[in-house]
Amino acid sequence: MKILVINCGSSSLKFQLINSDDDTVMAKGLCERIGSEGSQMEYAANGGEKEIIKVDMPDHAAAAENVINTLIDKDKGVIGDLSQIDAVGHRIVHGGEKFASSVIIDDEVIKAIEECNDLAPLHNPANIVGIKACMKVMPNIPQCGVFDTAFHQTMPKKAYLYGIPYEYYEKYKVRKYGFHGTSHSYVSKRAAEILGIPYENSKIVVCHLGNGASICGVLNGKSIDTSMGLTPLDGLIMGTRSGSFDPAVIEFLMNKENKSISEIMTELNKKSGVLSLAGIGSSDFRDITKEMLAGNERAEMTIDTFCYKVAQYIGAYMTAMHGLDAIVFTAGLGENNFRVRKKISSYFDYLGVEIDDEANSHDRTEIVISKESSKIKVIQVPTNEELKIAQETMELLK
Ligand code: ADP
Repeated sequence: MKILVINCGSSSLKFQLINSDDDTVMAKGLCERIGSEGSQMEYAANGGEKEIIKVDMPDHAAAAENVINTLIDKDKGVIGDLSQIDAVGHRIVHGGEKFASSVIIDDEVIKAIEECNDLAPLHNPANIVGIKACMKVMPNIPQCGVFDTAFHQTMPKKAYLYGIPYEYYEKYKVRKYGFHGTSHSYVSKRAAEILGIPYENSKIVVCHLGNGASICGVLNGKSIDTSMGLTPLDGLIMGTRSGSFDPAVIEFLMNKENKSISEIMTELNKKSGVLSLAGIGSSDFRDITKEMLAGNERAEMTIDTFCYKVAQYIGAYMTAMHGLDAIVFTAGLGENNFRVRKKISSYFDYLGVEIDDEANSHDRTEIVISKESSKIKVIQVPTNEELKIAQETMELLK
């Protein structure tokens, strides 16, 4: 079966055509600057070189049409015609409390997703635009929705409630939701498979460490707690996001700096995190690591602070699960930064965690990086959210 996976942003549309028979990527690409001048599509077929195709895309329907036309193109294409696509799987950021699993999309589902727009005003409307565009261009192909929040809907109340007036939960559903659910779910399951432990009887903490970063405690295959909250601002210190801190700081800064709430929120989302801690004008850990190796103490402090918070969350979820079988590292940093993996793991030496430096020197591959003797296993698993969306879509078709 062939599943087209779509991840739609406000001016972009990312896609992958996945052959679910052998999990291969037949073609992938990215439509950018949709709705403005200079719109273009990056496209690569069968793992080949990517090419840039300049094409006018006034809206997302035009982008979807362009994707289809390219996929069936005589020269560039990988399929004969549209009927070879069995379903479309859409990444949707926020499903609120309405969606605890993936769904086949119809008008009612679209309405329910729209009702979650308040919770993710930057992302959900763009996701819906993408769904409607694909429905228009591929009216006879099932469209499925896979939510970033759905995996975390198994969290118990004690994990997702905030200690703020309860009426805000009742009135507006203000609570922890969590994100990166597709990644946490995919990676924890793969880790259990690789380690040979039964997923439905396992205690795993996944560290999804990218620009956006979150930790998830996965008990017996279900999320029991995660570090992001109502929005992705909560939890770890990230590339440019603050992560959690005393909320009273907001009022304090508004008064001191004479700034509006929206100015402060922009700072917390876009100008904080390791970008501001390191102070080298980059949020990229490659740059920060280079600075640290050159003796920049602030860069070293930044990496220390980042790793400390990750370790704290692992400790918290280990307690929540009454133990731990495995720590899993994934996403940009988790898959590419051996120092960060080692530093975080070193906090658990007292529990018998031992890292195998040779194994840990490998990047972007599925590999156990703890020693044979390590009481808690540590493993690196590259995430693959598109593949997971395709798998979920396949399940729904069955
Ligand atoms: P996003 O949340 O935007 O998807 P990523 O998962 O790409 O973020 O992670 C971005 C971070 O991962 C950056 O800090 C970067 O330093 C690190 N990273 C990504 N790729 C590499 C690489 N090949 N080598 C080292 N670090 C990398």
